[in-house]
Amino acid sequence: MTVRIEDGCIGCGACESICDAVFKVEDVATVNEAEVEANIDCVKEAAESCPVGVIVVE
Ligand code: SF4
Repeated sequence: MTVRIEDGCIGCGACESICDAVFKVEDVATVNEAEVEANIDCVKEAAESCPVGVIVVE
């Protein structure tokens, strides 16, 4: 699976707090693709928790 962050991230930090192996948030979130497969459960949880729905898992 791949994960990307669409335009519109508000930098809230929720994804990093849920799944910090994959998401890092400074101004906006970035994704460490190398860790996605091993952490797919929390990646999905982060995507569901993003307040603006910009985390796309496909
Ligand atoms: S949870 Fe969504 S809005 Fe918040 S930092 Fe992560 S991608 Fe951005």
